[in-house]
Amino acid sequence: MSEVLILVDAVDGKVAKSTGELATYAKAIGKVNAVLFDEALVPQLSAYAIDNVIICKGIDVTKFSPAPIAQSLAQIAKSKSAAAVLITSSAKGKEIAGRLAVITESGIITDASAIDSELITTQLVFGGSTTVHAAVTHGISIVTLRSNSIEPLAGSATPTTEEFVPKISDLAKLAVVTSTEPAAKGGRPELTEASIVISGGRGTNGDFKPVEAFADILGAAVGASRAATDAGWYPHTHQVGQTGKTVSPQLYVACGISGAIQHRAGMQTSKMIVAINKDAEAPIFELADYGVIGDLFNVLPQATAAIAAKRA
Ligand SMILES: Cc1cc2nc3c(=O)[nH]c(=O)nc-3n(C[C@H](O)[C@H](O)[C@H](O)COP(=O)(O)OP(=O)(O)OC[C@H]3O[C@@H](n4cnc5c(N)ncnc54)[C@H](O)[C@@H]3O)c2cc1C
Repeated sequence: MSEVLILVDAVDGKVAKSTGELATYAKAIGKVNAVLFDEALVPQLSAYAIDNVIICKGIDVTKFSPAPIAQSLAQIAKSKSAAAVLITSSAKGKEIAGRLAVITESGIITDASAIDSELITTQLVFGGSTTVHAAVTHGISIVTLRSNSIEPLAGSATPTTEEFVPKISDLAKLAVVTSTEPAAKGGRPELTEASIVISGGRGTNGDFKPVEAFADILGAAVGASRAATDAGWYPHTHQVGQTGKTVSPQLYVACGISGAIQHRAGMQTSKMIVAINKDAEAPIFELADYGVIGDLFNVLPQATAAIAAKRA
């Protein structure tokens, strides 16, 4: 049976759902080995389809750039003769994957939306207009997978655990994290983890209150188009798109967003897309499953009130 490594992803001391998604893909390939650096997270891993947990000891990875993580993964992959290493497609995940590919002289595929039992990946490119199936042909299959692209399988048994002490070179410790500050949060879920994302664009004219109110009643994250972030209406950390974050929630609501190809690149794999736009010709309607032709300042408060009334 092929050995597959997945890198455990955690947000605020909690194992992220994306870890379960990686495990679900890995399960179809072979034995799922979850690699982590924070032992305190181990009990949470039994929620997912993980066969074995590898606890990396002797290095505090929070103090360094991703280089020591990549080195550790390379050593574990070698010791296990791993067929594949699956990592969440975040900026950090992609940096780790890139470094790992260099160390192991392997091929890498990033931003995949799926990988099958034969290690063939699916990617949506050119703003979602083209589906690419690709496979790594040299070395270990190193693949980063977008969050929210599969429903995680539940764990059926407590995984076994083992410890691994990687040998980290001085070179990998050259970039040191001098301080970190948790991002200010308003109690909303993380954008790339959220199952519902409500995004606002230039059509908000800088007033995100109706977008936020609708997001809050649905327990959703708030996203923004680049037009909105460039105008300083919403933080750049919330930008969705080619030069922003990639999201793939169950529900994506685009409010006052035209649907430029660069915006689509970050949200087109959402399971259901709803567009609210006062221009019936807006390109976002070509992509949307449901569309409301209307002014977001009328539509959103009504939708928020209707949901509140239903809940009451
Ligand atoms: C290299 C490059 C990278 C880029 N990366 C990104 C990226 O990562 N993310 C991104 O989003 N963009 C990106 N862009 C910019 C992208 O091309 C668009 O300019 C941007 O997405 C437009 O944002 P928007 O839809 O909010 O604004 P617009 O295109 O101006 O659309 C606003 C929409 O709001 C509607 N509207 C106006 N008022 C209302 C109202 N009251 N109610 C309802 N609807 C209303 C209008 O009908 C219109 O359709 C990139 C561009 C380049 C060149």
